[in-house]
Amino acid sequence: MQDAGPEFLCDAMLGGLARWLRAAGYDARFTYGIDDRELLAQALRTGATLLSSDGKLFERNIIRSGALPALFVPRQLSKLQQLGFVLRGLGLPVRPQPRCMACGGALEEVAKPAVRAEAPRRAYAAHERFWRCTRCGKLLWRGTHWRRIAAALERIGGGGG
Ligand SMILES: [Zn+2]
Repeated sequence: MQDAGPEFLCDAMLGGLARWLRAAGYDARFTYGIDDRELLAQALRTGATLLSSDGKLFERNIIRSGALPALFVPRQLSKLQQLGFVLRGLGLPVRPQPRCMACGGALEEVAKPAVRAEAPRRAYAAHERFWRCTRCGKLLWRGTHWRRIAAALERIGGGGG
């Protein structure tokens, strides 16, 4: 299966934003400690929109000319505010299908009996639906963490700008 590649590339400061973008249904890539040169090379190679808090990056010709789509993200905002800033700035909705927050992979629902041995006993007892990341294999269910994230995304998505 061909991987379409990430839709967003986050600079080394924006790992938290990458996780929130994935929760909002976007495939965002973040590489810890990546330098500007490699970041720009990856953006060119993948066609992803570059998200960065590094003002210097935006002085580069390749970004100033518009050849490489990029958005400056204020560092002083909280991660959730950064997500709202990006979605509003680019006119994008919170998508109904979240992606894996760990890696950005698509989630696929799996039959409950298939995860019996793998799921924590309490999660297995408390939940009827389970999903697996098609990229990293992580197993997910709608636990407290998921619901808290969904509630936060709803505030962003339904805020009306
Ligand atoms: Zn994953």
